[in-house]
Amino acid sequence: MPLEPRTVACPILSGAGSKETEAGPGASPQALLSDGELDVIGARVSAARAAVEARGETFYQGPSGTHLAAFPPKERWDDWTELDSRAWPARLERRYLIVPTTCFNCESACGLLAYVDKDSLEVRKFEGNPEHPGSRGRNCAKGPATLNQVTDPDRVLYPLHRTGPRGSGGWERISWDEALDALGARIRKAIIESRQNEIMVHLGRPGEDGFTERVLASWGVDGHNSHTNVCSSAGRTGYQFWMGSDRPSPDYANAKVIYLISAHLEAGHYFNPHAQRITEARAKGAKVIVLDTRLSNTASSADQWLSPVPGSESAINLSIARHLIATGRYDRDFVRRWWNWAEYLEACRPELPVSFEAFEKVLASIYADFTFEFAAAESGVAPDVLAEVAETVASAGTRFAAHVWRSAAAANLGGWQVARTLFLISALLGAVATEGGTFPNTQNKFVPRPIHLPPAPAAWQDLEWPLEYPLAQNEMSFLLPQLDTYFTRVYNPVWTNPDGLSWMEMLSDETKVACLVTLTPTWNESAYFADYVLPMGHGSERHDTHSYEQYDGQWVAFRQPVLRAARERLGEQITDTRQVNPGEVWEENEFWIELSWRIDPDGSLGIRQYHESRAHPGEKLSVEEYYDWMFENSVPGLPERASAEELTALQWMRRYGAFEISSGLGAVHERPVPRGALDEVVIDATGRAYTASPKPVDPNIVPTGAPEPDAKGRRPVGVEVDGTVRLGFPTPSGKLEFYSSTLAAWGWPEHALPGYIKSHVHPDNLAPDQMVLLSTFRLPTQIHTRSANAKWLDELAHTNPVWIHPLDAARLKVARTGDLVRVETDIGHFVAKAWITEGIRPGVVACSHHMGRWRLSDEPRGAGAMMATVGLRRYGAGWKMHQENPVKSYESSDPDTQRIWWNETGVHQNLTFPVHPDPISGMHCWHQAVRVRPAQPDDRHGDISVDTTKSRAVYQEWLSLTRPANDQSPGKLRRPRWLMRPLRPTPDSYLLPQRRPRP
Ligand code: SF4
Repeated sequence: MPLEPRTVACPILSGAGSKETEAGPGASPQALLSDGELDVIGARVSAARAAVEARGETFYQGPSGTHLAAFPPKERWDDWTELDSRAWPARLERRYLIVPTTCFNCESACGLLAYVDKDSLEVRKFEGNPEHPGSRGRNCAKGPATLNQVTDPDRVLYPLHRTGPRGSGGWERISWDEALDALGARIRKAIIESRQNEIMVHLGRPGEDGFTERVLASWGVDGHNSHTNVCSSAGRTGYQFWMGSDRPSPDYANAKVIYLISAHLEAGHYFNPHAQRITEARAKGAKVIVLDTRLSNTASSADQWLSPVPGSESAINLSIARHLIATGRYDRDFVRRWWNWAEYLEACRPELPVSFEAFEKVLASIYADFTFEFAAAESGVAPDVLAEVAETVASAGTRFAAHVWRSAAAANLGGWQVARTLFLISALLGAVATEGGTFPNTQNKFVPRPIHLPPAPAAWQDLEWPLEYPLAQNEMSFLLPQLDTYFTRVYNPVWTNPDGLSWMEMLSDETKVACLVTLTPTWNESAYFADYVLPMGHGSERHDTHSYEQYDGQWVAFRQPVLRAARERLGEQITDTRQVNPGEVWEENEFWIELSWRIDPDGSLGIRQYHESRAHPGEKLSVEEYYDWMFENSVPGLPERASAEELTALQWMRRYGAFEISSGLGAVHERPVPRGALDEVVIDATGRAYTASPKPVDPNIVPTGAPEPDAKGRRPVGVEVDGTVRLGFPTPSGKLEFYSSTLAAWGWPEHALPGYIKSHVHPDNLAPDQMVLLSTFRLPTQIHTRSANAKWLDELAHTNPVWIHPLDAARLKVARTGDLVRVETDIGHFVAKAWITEGIRPGVVACSHHMGRWRLSDEPRGAGAMMATVGLRRYGAGWKMHQENPVKSYESSDPDTQRIWWNETGVHQNLTFPVHPDPISGMHCWHQAVRVRPAQPDDRHGDISVDTTKSRAVYQEWLSLTRPANDQSPGKLRRPRWLMRPLRPTPDSYLLPQRRPRP
């Protein structure tokens, strides 16, 4: 029952003149304060007033008329008043509309509030949205810096078309219609000529849940490409083989022990939402263990920091697992009920009885060699320290929250086993989907169904899913495509990927990529080689929905063009986001809908139907209708919540920005399969429950990792545990897969269990004069390729020196911090400044990967604050780059560009890295074996030298490690159907080419 509004005296105002405000639940922050707190505030205000009046001045009561300890009350988001900080010391009051959106500057999608000036209709600042369940009003530095991106004087504002040769810097402004007509005709021709596989969309920051995939599906194109295998595919692999979900969702806030193989408190995955919950847990006494070779800010806050030899993390995890097994401190009942130990015994130990007791004995023997002494020899961390850490872990019980995402998993050959061995610890402790434990991400994520679901494409894109990598977690995105029409979307492969100069060579060649279309808010190193540069919006200029696993709950958030929402609140009708965005900046959703209509103007290709209005058949679908339908029809509880405020679901989301669907879901895998569903279930000998008859699968709505039907086409619905059919996990067995029958069947039986794979940078694989270069960490204030266009972030961080231990510095004769060093990889070298620090392990150097932005000397466009002008010339089979002009102050529409005081931009080290695809996960293994020397006499800071012929040779070496799909592969498939694919083609498309039925 709603509470009656009550009247409370505002302490600030009562001190100023006894004004009163109305306050209901959540209506104004002072209503939330205790009487004692109100007294304290009142006393402070009275004192301040007295002091001001004693000086003969007039006391200013504050523009908001409320206590601002928290956030503007949501009831006042239509009209909020604050002082303009820029006008200080004048007290200039500004009135705002407050409009929510979500941040686009990392994958966390934190809530933002845009403060839209009611007079000028400009956004004046971004702050956190307290209504967002994941970020809860908090942001990192990159959230408020959205303002810099919006007002960036160097941003791309109009569609551009290349005029000279590729990369020559000649551009002409064109209309959106010209671009759409040209691209629509080109894609239509490719589809009509059955060249669907020559179309690809390559995503950098996705920032949304499935819109692009469905556009491609509507075109019948299997052309979705992601950046994931230069990011997180190895971490995902380790989790997917265990639980069928490719991401962990740790319940940090309730954990007793938090175990991180990454830099979560400063920059890790779901950075701010996770960091705030880790901080909460610490305040309640949780212990934090951090494995990081580098003394990150996170490591510096840990209770126990281990600095292992790079690549030895799995050995440490296994020594802890062994300790839990050897001391009997694992959750026997959980292991018995939920591990697929019976499947393991039957497959690998047929001589033993299929009993849990037999398995326990085998389990102890499997990991017997992973003693603390062994792990110490591998990791360089003392055995007694490992024993202490293992004891801490053992004390956690089911309140053990653990996470690895990029870091060591993304860095090493076999890095996916870092995630698999880490989850082994969780699975031993029974800390899976428990309070304070680690959940499968699929449980804590909610993807709403959209208005149209096009069918899966009947195609297979070999460039992204080649036969050599049948188990690759994601698209083999760093392999070079040959295409007719190649879209990059907020993606900059020349700068982001390893071996970027090979990418530059390819993008310069029109016989390899006939038409490169860059969808981007900013200029970047790849856009210079585009045929079309099309301006796309930042986080406050576009629509998206998203949901990420950040605690034990499900939410959906809404990114929206804030000026559109603001002007609609003021009564205007906006039909196209370009009407409110700067220049002719568009949003992708409207762009894709329009492009799909240009490809199929009369609907004869069957594409247009998926981009038509439901309410008005034959008319174009608007984003308004798209989200209105989605929020009304497929977000449980939202329509009811909205109608309580007499709003539609879309109006509610436009007003508040995020909605929590559920929380405290607990152990979903334990839930019995509903009775109705059980009426038609058959259970096989392993306990797997299937539908009694074949059930066709809609690949667009099956959750990621859903197991495939059995040979008779029957769909798995659960698994029998202790006589009850339960929902289980989305793995082939329905249980947690200690033993991966998939790995065994696809040619990797030796890695079917959680184990230790020696990294390519293991000491055994290094020459005596080689060191390991860590390149997988990022500075918390950087946004990959877009931070260069955010001046506050540029000022905060603009260098990436090479971390080097004093012992190594002395050995290498690097005298002091700031001296130049040459770092030599297998294909070239880069020159950077040294930072001599004890925060790195001897024998290891480290360099952050977010720096070294550049533009060619004849290209005036770019980010003036953070892109050095470089000279790039051929040198034999390779390239040499040197920085010609550092950044300096310059005139622009933003006076702050004249205040640039720095001139460094760091070094672009990724250019010197060859491609290292892991033969199982497909992840690029980022660590490099390098030689570090003092710079040579002619070396200059930022110099790069690369031989792209050598990079191909290195790739061939790694390619030789693979075990391709072939006629012996299970089901004669290219890839197991149950493994995730962001865009799933039809089941027949999985068949090997010679096995596939001819159309
Ligand atoms: S963590 Fe920072 S960059 Fe990432 S979404 Fe949140 S505010 Fe934006």
